[in-house]
Amino acid sequence: MTTIERDLAALLPAGAVAAPEDHHVADLLGRALRGRADAVCFPATTEEVARVVAWCYERDVPITARGGGTGLAGGAIPDGGVVLALERLDRVRSFEPLLWRMHVEAGVTTGTVHRLARENGLRFPPDPGAWEASKIGGNIACNAGGPHAFKYGVTGRWVTGIEAVVPPGEVVTIGGAVRKDVAGYDLRSLLVGSEGTLGIVTAAWLRLMPAPEAELPLVAFLRDTASGCAALEAVLGSGVYPAALEYLDGQTLDFAGPSFPVPVPAGAGFMVVAEVDGSRAEAEWALRELEEALGGEALGLYAPATPAEIAELWRWRGGVAFAILAQKGGAISEDIAVPVDRLREAIDETLAIGERCGVVALSFGHAGDGNLHSTFLFAPDDPDETRRARAACEELFDLAIRLDGTVTGEHGIGTLKAGQLARQWAPAAVELHRRIKDAFDPKGLLNPGKKI
Ligand SMILES: Cc1cc2nc3c(=O)[nH]c(=O)nc-3n(C[C@H](O)[C@H](O)[C@H](O)COP(=O)(O)OP(=O)(O)OC[C@H]3O[C@@H](n4cnc5c(N)ncnc54)[C@H](O)[C@@H]3O)c2cc1C
Repeated sequence: MTTIERDLAALLPAGAVAAPEDHHVADLLGRALRGRADAVCFPATTEEVARVVAWCYERDVPITARGGGTGLAGGAIPDGGVVLALERLDRVRSFEPLLWRMHVEAGVTTGTVHRLARENGLRFPPDPGAWEASKIGGNIACNAGGPHAFKYGVTGRWVTGIEAVVPPGEVVTIGGAVRKDVAGYDLRSLLVGSEGTLGIVTAAWLRLMPAPEAELPLVAFLRDTASGCAALEAVLGSGVYPAALEYLDGQTLDFAGPSFPVPVPAGAGFMVVAEVDGSRAEAEWALRELEEALGGEALGLYAPATPAEIAELWRWRGGVAFAILAQKGGAISEDIAVPVDRLREAIDETLAIGERCGVVALSFGHAGDGNLHSTFLFAPDDPDETRRARAACEELFDLAIRLDGTVTGEHGIGTLKAGQLARQWAPAAVELHRRIKDAFDPKGLLNPGKKI
C-alpha cells in the first residue's frame, strides 16, 4: 500500500480507495497504452470528490478523472498521482419528463440516460458509440458527438448546467435547469470538452427533446468516392435535413460489408448511411427526397423499415470499428474534421498517405460534419509497421490543417494527440489556452500533460 493510498483511505469511507489496476490506469481498447498511479479513489458524493481534490491540491498530487475509460485519445490514462474514478457517482438526482430535463451525476452511463429518456417518449440526442460504458461526465469532458450530431449537435448543446469541483477543492455550480443564461463568461462551455484539465464534473443538468415519431434510414451504395461525395452533396442541396449522414469508403466496406444485413451490390466502393426523422408524414416525405438525391448514381438502395431492421443497421454501424480492428489487431483511428466541401480530398488523401507510409489506410465517419475516422492498420507485434502507422497520423494532421480543418472533431487531444494543439492554433491562441488553464488550475495538477 502506498503512503498516498493509506492517507486517502483515512479521508474516505471504507472501500473507496484501492491500489491501481489495469481497469483504471490502462487504455481498454487494445492500444497498449498504460499509465501509472499511486491510488484510485471511488468517491460516491460530490463532497467526497471535493475532499480528494483538496487533499491532492495541498500536497501537489496530480489528479486524473476517469469515467468509463472509453475515450479514444487516451485522456484518462494517468501519469502518476490519483485516479478519480467517478463510477459511484451514479444517481439520477431528478427527472422531469414533462419539462424535458434530467439532473444526473457524472457517473451515470450514457445508455441509462438514453433508456430513461426513451421510456418516457423523449430523447437525449448525443450518441457516441460506446454508450453502454461511457459516462455522462466523460461525454461532457470530451464534448462527444456521434452519428446524430449532424442535426442535433454534440453533447455540450444538451447541457444547461454543470456542477464541478475546481481547485483547490471548491464545488461550483454553473448554470442549472435554466435554459438560457448570458450572465458572466461562458464557463459551462469552457468545462465542456476540457478533458479533465479544468475541473472535475460531478453532475449535470441535461436538456432532452420529444422523440420524433418516425426515424427512417436509407443506405446507398455508390461506385466510388467521387460518386459517393457527389451524392452527399446532392443530399445537402436537396433541402432535406437528415438527422445522420454517414459514409464508409471502399476499403472499409470490404472489411465491414460481409456482415451488413443485406448483400452489398457488386462493384460498390462507397456507402452512404442517412437517416431522416420527424412526424411519420414528414419523415416519409424526407425519405422520398433522400431516395431521389442518393438514387441517381447509386448501384443499390436499402431502406430498413421495421424497428428490428433499423436497430440492426445501427448495431452494424456501431461494429464497423471492431471489424476494422480485427484485420490486423492494431488500428489507429483518428478523427480529423474538414469543411464538408473538402471531404472528398480528405478521403482520397488518407489513402495516399497510407500508400506513402506503406500501411493499409481507410476512412469512414460522419460525412455531414466533415468528420473522418481516417484509420491506419498495423500488426501490434510489428514495431516497424506500428511506427509507419504513427507516421501516417502525423501526415494526416498536416492534411487536416491544410484543408482548413481540425486535428480532432470528436475524441479530443488526450495523450495520443499531445502537442497537436500548437500545430493547429496560432501561438497567441495557445497562450490564451494556457492562461485559462492557469486560472482554473494554477498548480497544473488536473490531468497534467493533456490538452495543452
Ligand atoms: C466504440 C467506440 C465508439 C465511439 N464513438 C464515438 C462517437 O461516435 N463520437 C464521439 O464523439 N466519441 C466516440 N467515442 C469516444 C467517446 O468520446 C467516449 O466513448 C466517451 O465520450 C468518453 O466517456 P468516458 O466516460 O468513457 O470517458 P473516459 O474515457 O473515462 O475519459 C475521457 C476524458 O474525459 C475526462 N473525464 C472523464 N470523466 C470526467 C469528469 N467527470 N470530469 C472531468 N473530466 C472527466 C478524462 O480525464 C479523459 O480526459 C467512441 C468510443 C468507442 C470506444
